[in-house]
Amino acid sequence: MKIFKYLFCAILFTSLSASAQDEEKVERQQGHTNQNKFKQLYDEFATPNMFRTGSGAPGPAYYQQQADYKMDIEIDDVNAKLYGDETITYTNNSPDDLRYLWVQLDQNMRARDSKTPLIGNSGIAPATSSSRVVKSYLKESFDGGFHIEHVKTVNGKDLPHTINRTMMRVELPKVLKSGESFSFKIKWWYNINDHVKDGGRSGYEYFEENDNRIYVMAQFYPRMAVYNDVEGWQNSQFWGRDEFALPFGDFDVNITVPADHIVDGTGHLVNREEVFTKDMMKRFNKAKKSYDEPVMIVTQEEAEKTEKTKSKNKKTWKLSAQMVRDFGFATSRKFLWDMMAVKIGDKDVMAVSLYSKEGNPLWEQWSTKAVASTLKSYSRLTFDYPYHKAISVHAPMGMEYPMICYNFGRPDKDGNYSDRTKYGMISVIIHEVGHNFFPMIVNSDERQWTWMDEGLNTFSQYVAEQDFGEWYPKALSPNDKAYPSRRGPAKNIVRYMGGNQDYIAPIMTKGLNTYQFGNNAYSKPATALNILRETIMGRELFDYSFREYANRWMFKHPTPEDFFRTMEDASAVDLDWFWRGWFYTTDYTDIGIKEVKKFAVTSTPNDNGKRLAERYNRDPKSLVYFIEEGDEGYDNAIKNKEDLNNLPTVKEYIMDNFTPEEQKEIKKAPKYFYQVTFNKPGGLVMPIIVEFTYADGTKMRETYPAQVWRLNDKEANKAIASEKEIVSITVDPDLETADVDTSNNSWPMEVKDSDFDTFKNKVKN
Ligand SMILES: [Zn+2]
Repeated sequence: MKIFKYLFCAILFTSLSASAQDEEKVERQQGHTNQNKFKQLYDEFATPNMFRTGSGAPGPAYYQQQADYKMDIEIDDVNAKLYGDETITYTNNSPDDLRYLWVQLDQNMRARDSKTPLIGNSGIAPATSSSRVVKSYLKESFDGGFHIEHVKTVNGKDLPHTINRTMMRVELPKVLKSGESFSFKIKWWYNINDHVKDGGRSGYEYFEENDNRIYVMAQFYPRMAVYNDVEGWQNSQFWGRDEFALPFGDFDVNITVPADHIVDGTGHLVNREEVFTKDMMKRFNKAKKSYDEPVMIVTQEEAEKTEKTKSKNKKTWKLSAQMVRDFGFATSRKFLWDMMAVKIGDKDVMAVSLYSKEGNPLWEQWSTKAVASTLKSYSRLTFDYPYHKAISVHAPMGMEYPMICYNFGRPDKDGNYSDRTKYGMISVIIHEVGHNFFPMIVNSDERQWTWMDEGLNTFSQYVAEQDFGEWYPKALSPNDKAYPSRRGPAKNIVRYMGGNQDYIAPIMTKGLNTYQFGNNAYSKPATALNILRETIMGRELFDYSFREYANRWMFKHPTPEDFFRTMEDASAVDLDWFWRGWFYTTDYTDIGIKEVKKFAVTSTPNDNGKRLAERYNRDPKSLVYFIEEGDEGYDNAIKNKEDLNNLPTVKEYIMDNFTPEEQKEIKKAPKYFYQVTFNKPGGLVMPIIVEFTYADGTKMRETYPAQVWRLNDKEANKAIASEKEIVSITVDPDLETADVDTSNNSWPMEVKDSDFDTFKNKVKN
């Protein structure tokens, strides 16, 4: 018994002390944590320094590393293997001494010992397809990792290296000092994956007819990691979700493929005369002067003939690229090829498409035009596209690399396609070609910040889609007056932002760790920027600042703060509250009208008025009284047609204080007085956009800046004086703030009941 008693006491004691601790914690929070939504972002932002300034620009000590590659690549089409040999020259432009280098081995995500499958959930369903059962339980997993044959110095000496999953640390023979370069060689091979069956951002698609493949290749070589002032080495593992962080460099790549293949990829084709037929050369020269319609370099008839046989010979295509962060290429004997020129500034850029007959007729109609249109739109939003070409390749995925991207959109076997397929294809092309700007040129860290490329790009995609619809109205379906963009309009994000908070993460979350990846990293930031442009900043200030950001960080590595700071720095619009709400929290917009009170003006006080005059010790005759509808004195005031111009005290005040000249300037008195109480059930602070409708049917708009919420996050009152009677009020009439609940957006609640008095009476009865 004693023991029990003792135990009881102990439990009581701990529970007491725990609750005392809780109380203390609550007190401490209330006392010291500033939750103000307009609080400056100093706690979240890195301190500006010589590398990155407080204005959001690269600082005087800004540096970036350079990685140059010389590669020999061979595709073994019979066995679907890639063989590679590369010399990387790494230049240390940082002020730091480096003892080792980190190299990315992305294909190891597909290695047999990959941990990627282990972080997903798996379960057992009551019924499963036999293909899935075989794949899950009976088949040896695909050996898709890199087989590194050697890592050597240029003199052939082995370099010690350690592979930690998708990252490889290479030991330098001696410290690489600031300003020094180091060259080394890697030889490797790997089994190319079937990206249709196994997924992925590169690999091949297999076509049973004639036993052919289309290869869209990327992450096929050991690639240098980024080293910079904010991360040191960015060697965060590749789990398959978050994309890439890569330094800029120059590439010389020789790609050996079967002689009947067509190849295109990042960079200039330096041996065009060797790999092109005379006909292809002639057509290519014609394409360089064709600005309206693409010219076929390889026709469908030719491609269909080629894919029926297989050459035993090999051909090497030589590509050379300067200032690119990565390299991709596509190869197949199935390819049709078309090109046209597009004027960007005073330069001609080639818009290019590679597709198989399965993509037609859709691809020959719209792919290359979508590429050209995208380059024009994005160049207007940012800077003139600096590369000499942009290629769109038909493959059932959407993925981007410098100058080349892979895009879905395939008609039925009989060549018919739905609007959904058509718009899907045009949108993905605009999106992936757009990635040339973000992140291929404005080179943000995708491994860390998915929104910095996907969000900025999806926002720009929205603008480019609208341009495309305007420039190519024939591409639109008869019922569509404008291009039906999916992501960007504020109302389209409402379902996501108003959804279950347990499955929403702030935008400032690493992609791997977010729920609803597409909504989080694409739609929400794109919508936020669209709202910033249309509603908060206005197009002129937004576009100037957005262009400034793009130009400051063109061919450099920006961070989120560099973007946030530049948008403020170039516009003088205080946006800390906006970044905080939209990017650092999962709050949503919900602003409503809580109450509207109507007043009459009079010089005769009722009891309330008398009490106030007494309390402030004022002569009751010197005051002007506002009496709320329904209160004592209201009806009299209305009946007597009192208004501000004829109230004796007001008249007297004007006579005493204004010159005759100034008196002429006095405004005609408003006749109707209202006090509108807006409330904000939503966490986001946003401007209150209000539309007032008058009894004569005319309308007036007013926007109260978001700062209206700075001292009271719950409610805002506004006194409205009007010459005309107001019969209805609507908040966010154009649905531009992503308000998740519009049922509280209008007064009177029933919009059709537009008569003020009948509404008021109904409420009172
Ligand atoms: Zn994207």
